[in-house]
Amino acid sequence: MTTAQKPIGLLGGTFDPVHHGHLRLALELYEKLDLAEVRLIPSAIPPHRHPPLASPQMRLAMIQIAIQGVKGLTLDDREFYRTGPSYTIHTLESLRADFTTQPLCLILGMDAFLNLPNWYQWERLMTLTHLVVVRRAGTVLPETHDLQHFLHIHQLHDQEELTQNRVGGIWIEEITQLTISATQIRNLLATHKNPRYLLPHSVLNFIYTHQLYR
Ligand code: ATP
Repeated sequence: MTTAQKPIGLLGGTFDPVHHGHLRLALELYEKLDLAEVRLIPSAIPPHRHPPLASPQMRLAMIQIAIQGVKGLTLDDREFYRTGPSYTIHTLESLRADFTTQPLCLILGMDAFLNLPNWYQWERLMTLTHLVVVRRAGTVLPETHDLQHFLHIHQLHDQEELTQNRVGGIWIEEITQLTISATQIRNLLATHKNPRYLLPHSVLNFIYTHQLYR
């Protein structure tokens, strides 16, 4: 299959800063699911959480440095060109306008998936994309009635279906999750400890040069 027909993976987040947890996740899914690419999409104003500490330009630059020369990982800065909160549904509409025929796969951690019913217009998501839900071995599936029903309707049992249809499926993938968070890295930096090995060294150098997260 040509790259132009393969599904495109989408990984949104604040990336404040980008770290090896994000990067391994993106790369593993690129390879395991045979995706055209995984687009890292930093949010400008995330609607569900406190604002990022680093500016959009700094977060973009850190992602650029982290993925430089890595086949399969790309940066998508479209959320910075919109005003107002970065609602995923609007990002997906914009991506769909650019990629009319390719399947889209929105990548979500199980935590984010369990929180889905709180998202703006969440039931419309499946008209625009597939969901790839990543879980660690042993973590539970949803217990709320709404989500169980939603999963029951949409869950795929054959990976091929991600390619055969453009939208509408939920694929659950188990990955070896690295327990790294951006919060942990920011806290280490704020207390003058060394976050080395949790994120690419080039990104850490950038953080020191620009005196971020002090
Ligand atoms: P913070 O600590 O600031 O909340 P974070 O490290 O969780 O940030 P985000 O930018 O919020 O990072 O995450 C973007 C996406 O990457 C989310 O879908 C999240 O589930 C996923 N992700 C974050 N950290 C990891 C990790 N260690 N392993 C796998 N996925 C991760």
